[in-house]
Amino acid sequence: MLKTILIHPDPRLKKLCAPVPDLSDRLRDLAQDMLETMYDAPGIGLAAPQVGVLERLIVMDCAKEDDPQPVVMFNPEVLAASDALNTYEEGCLSIPEQFAEVTRPAEVRIGWIDETGTPREKDFDGLWATCVQHEIDHLNGKLFIDHLGAMRRQMITRKSAKLKRERARG
Ligand code: ZN
Repeated sequence: MLKTILIHPDPRLKKLCAPVPDLSDRLRDLAQDMLETMYDAPGIGLAAPQVGVLERLIVMDCAKEDDPQPVVMFNPEVLAASDALNTYEEGCLSIPEQFAEVTRPAEVRIGWIDETGTPREKDFDGLWATCVQHEIDHLNGKLFIDHLGAMRRQMITRKSAKLKRERARG
């Protein structure tokens, strides 16, 4: 089932999300709905707060379209980050049509619980590394524009607010 993606500014996108205590059918269904919503958008990552659920769950797929590699992460954590940095032009499904370059660690080691309840650990680089850090930021109430200067952030927020008003009017 497709979920509605919240558009910035929205107070739910600024909240610290709670850890997932135990995997339940509700959470597994939510993860599947989030993947469906992400592919439909289309996007390469989606965090639970973006669909109004303030819990620590993200989904991603940075693989090529003809070779899908969906990843579901409960309680993802950055365990280690490289000194080497990487800059990507980032966007966000909650800030449509706005893009900006963001610099982050080029490689990160992530720990998480997968959809079967198994603890996992893996190193990510390239677009995957940027994406997983962007999604984990969402769980801490942080958006990619929070990595930018105040002027740029305010400009993008104004544009997003305008787009949100236009969409609300239909
Ligand atoms: Zn985002």
